[in-house]
Amino acid sequence: MHIKKQRLLTPGPTPLLPAALHAMMGSDIHHRTEDFRNLYKQVLADLKTVLATAHDVLVLVASGTGGLEAAVQNFFSPGDEVIVCSAGKFGERWVDLAKAFGLKATVLSAPYGDAVSPAAVEEVLARNKNIRGVFVQASETSTGSQHDVKSMGLAVKKTGAIFVVDAITGLGTMPLEIDAWGLDIVIGGSQKAFMIPPGLAFLSISPKAWALSESATSPRYYFDLRKERKSAAGGESSWTPNTSLLLAFAEALKYIQSIGMDKLVENAQLLAHATRQAVRALGLELFSTSPGSSVTAVRPPAGMDSGVIVKQYRSRFNAIITNGQGSMKGQIFRLAHLGYFDFHDLFAVIAELEIILAAEGYPVRFGSGVAAVQNVYAEAALPKEAPLLV
Ligand SMILES: *Cc1c(COP(=O)(O)O)cnc(C)c1O
Repeated sequence: MHIKKQRLLTPGPTPLLPAALHAMMGSDIHHRTEDFRNLYKQVLADLKTVLATAHDVLVLVASGTGGLEAAVQNFFSPGDEVIVCSAGKFGERWVDLAKAFGLKATVLSAPYGDAVSPAAVEEVLARNKNIRGVFVQASETSTGSQHDVKSMGLAVKKTGAIFVVDAITGLGTMPLEIDAWGLDIVIGGSQKAFMIPPGLAFLSISPKAWALSESATSPRYYFDLRKERKSAAGGESSWTPNTSLLLAFAEALKYIQSIGMDKLVENAQLLAHATRQAVRALGLELFSTSPGSSVTAVRPPAGMDSGVIVKQYRSRFNAIITNGQGSMKGQIFRLAHLGYFDFHDLFAVIAELEIILAAEGYPVRFGSGVAAVQNVYAEAALPKEAPLLV
């Protein structure tokens, strides 16, 4: 117990892809050279392939929230009527952003752990023809829930409004058919399923959204996406880019293409499924009624503060997991699956959880959670005729 490797197991930042990390050492290139233009064009082309969209894709130097802000600034004007779906701390960020830019928001909120129903969105769209945009999280990282963005997108598509999806933890953890489902603006971030450090945000932007940007009057400068689009067409960014993160991004996109984006999604889904099975086997409860695959939010045993579990992961195993955010602090702990996570990680995470629960006096049969993960692995990846010892 004297050597404890540090392991970052949070839903952002996530574990780093070694090849991406190594690539960052080549950062001594200038951003107004042919070398850089080749890199930037490759990143934009690969990102478009990975997102499987015909829409424009742009990269910004910012954390994910910069991408959210750019989406509000570039396509809306003060006084515009919008719908904001809010089912957690990130939904509340959309509410705050809409307020900051003077939008008139109808907020459809769901209690923490639930999701906003597509029917509620449709109902407001039918009642109010002035709605210009609908905002949602594909995956609400704070509660481990996911939204039915397909149904919502198809409903918004029939109207003049645009659908703005914070897919920062949705990308790489759930299927997202950007073009077919009418996802006009999709926002991602580097430190989630894309396996590289924080610092890049990116967006896909539909022609319908670009058309709205022409009449949008919100002030913008650094995040002027029309300017960014023009720069990107020439293989450059409008301002000094984060060269080291772009080098990393190029490697990560190469890796994702080598396994396939659908397989990256399947990987997260399998790990999330196995985690839910393990949690149930240990007699614990999930927090979300519509759990997604980016992160699983778990309630601690009755009477136990989830912060104790988070602290024990850190002190016993040097593993960093996350507590609940805001009022959910102490009420849940969150186990991540997005990006560079594998079964090896999950076996350890669940075995450690059993040890931590036992240390806190909760009755645990060692191996019961781990066995649940093994069964999911066996079901997915062992030949059917393999004899399983139970
Ligand atoms: C991480 C995250 C963000 C972005 O947060 P930043 O700290 O700005 O990178 C936004 N939305 C969701 C759902 C997230 O998980």
